[in-house]
Amino acid sequence: MNFELDEQQRQIRELARTFAQREIVPLAAAADRSGELPPDLHRRAVELGLANVNLPEEFGGAGLGCLELVLVTEALCHGCLGIGTALCVNALALEPIVVAGTLEQRTRFLGKAADGALASFALTEPAAGSDVAGIRTRADRVSGGYRLNGSKIWISNATLAEFFVVFAKTDPGAGHRGMTAFIVPHDSAGLSVGTPLSKLGQRAAPTSEVFLDDVFVPESLRLGEEGSGFSLAMTVFDHSRPMVAAFGVGLIERCIDEALAYACERSSMGRKLMEHQAVAHKLAEMRMRLEAARLLTYQAAWLVDQGRPNTTQASIAKAFAADAAMWAATEAVQIFGGMGYSTEYPVEKLFRDAKVLQIYEGSSEIQRNIIAREMQRA
Ligand SMILES: Cc1cc2nc3c(=O)[nH]c(=O)nc-3n(C[C@H](O)[C@H](O)[C@H](O)COP(=O)(O)OP(=O)(O)OC[C@H]3O[C@@H](n4cnc5c(N)ncnc54)[C@H](O)[C@@H]3O)c2cc1C
Repeated sequence: MNFELDEQQRQIRELARTFAQREIVPLAAAADRSGELPPDLHRRAVELGLANVNLPEEFGGAGLGCLELVLVTEALCHGCLGIGTALCVNALALEPIVVAGTLEQRTRFLGKAADGALASFALTEPAAGSDVAGIRTRADRVSGGYRLNGSKIWISNATLAEFFVVFAKTDPGAGHRGMTAFIVPHDSAGLSVGTPLSKLGQRAAPTSEVFLDDVFVPESLRLGEEGSGFSLAMTVFDHSRPMVAAFGVGLIERCIDEALAYACERSSMGRKLMEHQAVAHKLAEMRMRLEAARLLTYQAAWLVDQGRPNTTQASIAKAFAADAAMWAATEAVQIFGGMGYSTEYPVEKLFRDAKVLQIYEGSSEIQRNIIAREMQRA
């Protein structure tokens, strides 16, 4: 067993850290206030090779693995979880095409992404989030393709996306076996995107509703066979959950950096906060949870790169990192006392940004359902 990163992994992590410090951190507070992703950041990430990390080289990506994606992700999210999410979640939208796309689909759409296009993964609906099989968007067969009708909600980067991977029911009576995925270009007639939803945290990552009103999608843009959409979504989540766990790892490390600096500077009752054992133990506990979350995340990503099943490990990493991040952000606010509640200090943003980690990409409850289900299968 080897816990060392190789030279290339260390280099890309360093590049991502430098990019985060120089180009993300200075913009983070303003992007959080405005609720907008700073316009040039994605293009800069593409130029530096920090976007499309795990896209195959033949389609213009860096050709690296899920572990390298995780290393970049945690560094960007250390800079700002909102901006980091907006930049990295593109990998979630592209993964169904990597997994199930035809050569033509991969060449066209992964090629666009390599040139700097953003895409969105459109699964969740107003009446179906955790209940993936309960989606109601329909894809009815017509001559040459399908007509899609329905609506999606909470779709990350929808206002910026050049294309969407949309999940719909081709056979509504067949439960999860009646679901199919489609690639839908943003300029398809009948597709419209709502204005970004106002939200608690991760405000720099736009999320919107997407409306599908009789949208024609040619058969050539169906991903995989009819009925394969649910299993495709589950495979994609196995591959993307390590990245979402890395969102949490980056945030926990940022909580430690902010809280440690404050605890070493601020005094109370004649001592630095860090000299009060109750405070020092909080920081020690944060460090313990950081190390555990990081190792779980790397393991779940490494399994993807080995081509091995990782459903349980991906869920453990995602749930552990999300819960640890929310806990660490809460304690960071506590260590700052009243100043933790002030918008002048960064920890209130960490606290707001952390919460959604326990909700999206399968909530913490859903991850535990998956872990328990897999235990019964073993
Ligand atoms: C900022 C943000 C970005 C997002 N980005 C995307 C995106 O890009 N693409 C996309 O498709 N979706 C996206 N989502 C949607 C997200 O994945 C869903 O919100 C999430 O899956 C939860 O679904 P829900 O909101 O419908 O909650 P519900 O499914 O209604 O769940 C409500 C609560 O009940 C619990 N619960 C539900 N079912 C069970 C169960 N069987 N067992 C135990 N507990 C249960 C949940 O854990 C949760 O606590 C995003 C959401 C947010 C907030």
